[in-house]
Amino acid sequence: MKTSKAQIAKKEFFDKGKKLPVCVNDGCNKFVVVREWKYWSFKSECGSCTDCRKKKLYKIIDGKKIITKGTKKTITNDVIIHKKDFCENNDGHLGFSCPVNSNQWNNFLESLDLDHIDGDHMNNKPKNVKTYCKLCHNRKSKETGDWDSNKPSRRNIDN
Ligand SMILES: [Zn+2]
Ligand SMILES: [Zn+2]
Repeated sequence: MKTSKAQIAKKEFFDKGKKLPVCVNDGCNKFVVVREWKYWSFKSECGSCTDCRKKKLYKIIDGKKIITKGTKKTITNDVIIHKKDFCENNDGHLGFSCPVNSNQWNNFLESLDLDHIDGDHMNNKPKNVKTYCKLCHNRKSKETGDWDSNKPSRRNIDN
């Protein structure tokens, strides 16, 4: 059977002694979800956190969204959700302004993405992971020659 590019890339990753990044959420120590092995494209959160966040299985304490221990079998610590409910470019730090008001995201949360600022999917330090709306995210990608989070990552494809 022919080995797929994804399988080759996965093997290469572990052969090089690399480890998957850990979920960006404070208190969570699970590995992130792999978006595409072929490009070493990883999400910023683990599957359990994403699931709880999307299903709103969290409590809001002091303005923070906390997934409390035991919410799911796989949640073994209290976890603070990193992703915001608004576009973090609301202050225009990307060099252009977000065209949407921060209080208008309620029914459009699926249009907010987590972005690795430096484009490195391995760099899951909280300060490297920001919430941007699709409008700002696309423009950032275009202006910086950066990739969209759904597209190939920084793995150099030399073969
Ligand atoms: Zn997690
Ligand atoms: Zn925005």
